[in-house]
Amino acid sequence: MTRTEFDPGRVWVVKIGSSLLTNAGAGLAVEAVAGWVDDIAWLRAQGVDVVLVSSGAVAEGMARLGMRERPTSVHELQAAAAVGQMGLVQMYESHFQRHTLHTAQVLLTHDDLRDRERYLNARSTLRALLELGVVPVVNENDTVVTDEIRFGDNDTLAALVANLIQASTLLILTDQEGLFDKNPRDHPDARLVEKARAGDQTLVEYAGEGSALGRGGMITKLEAARVAARSGASTVITAGAREGVIRRLH
Ligand code: GLU
Repeated sequence: MTRTEFDPGRVWVVKIGSSLLTNAGAGLAVEAVAGWVDDIAWLRAQGVDVVLVSSGAVAEGMARLGMRERPTSVHELQAAAAVGQMGLVQMYESHFQRHTLHTAQVLLTHDDLRDRERYLNARSTLRALLELGVVPVVNENDTVVTDEIRFGDNDTLAALVANLIQASTLLILTDQEGLFDKNPRDHPDARLVEKARAGDQTLVEYAGEGSALGRGGMITKLEAARVAARSGASTVITAGAREGVIRRLH
């Protein structure tokens, strides 16, 4: 077992959302995950530590339990998440094993990050895991929180984790190209925003113009970028489906 000193300057938080992780309700997108895991293993070999924030538990649980519709009862949703989380960690564990990398399951809630003692505990554990060369796989602890206080699809959770470990970069992989200045479906001249300052109100206006599908999603991502910037992290919001996406950004 080798230990390296924790260095926040070379820590990335990589967030993968449910829509990328699941094959339209038919279980986990195992091949796509294999690609991201290969990229993360490569990143680690370049000296970058990675904390993975992954959703997909509810979606995978629904597939495993044969639920065609998303449950409306919070407890059924939580039950689905508990079942699906098993599939999620199994998948990451086996893919990272190909690179002889260990993974660790870390489940967090808002309360864990608000309470000082728990916050410091979570921070120390994540640091210890990184020093041990492990890839932490973080998700929300869906079992213990009600719908109103859930992080939902984890953009905010990923930003808070970036604060927690003072990551240099927050990478949000999504099913869209990124943020456009207008809805690209209605406006062929829509331009992709290449670079901007987190917290710039114009960006929120752009996101409001975005596609119906990604509307709420993009605003949450911009808010995540603003939160991550508080501890100095730069955020990249980009299409996760592009091959080698993580490598190309390094
Ligand atoms: N933590 C949840 C998951 O991993 C968020 C996604 C959702 O609410 O569907 O599935």
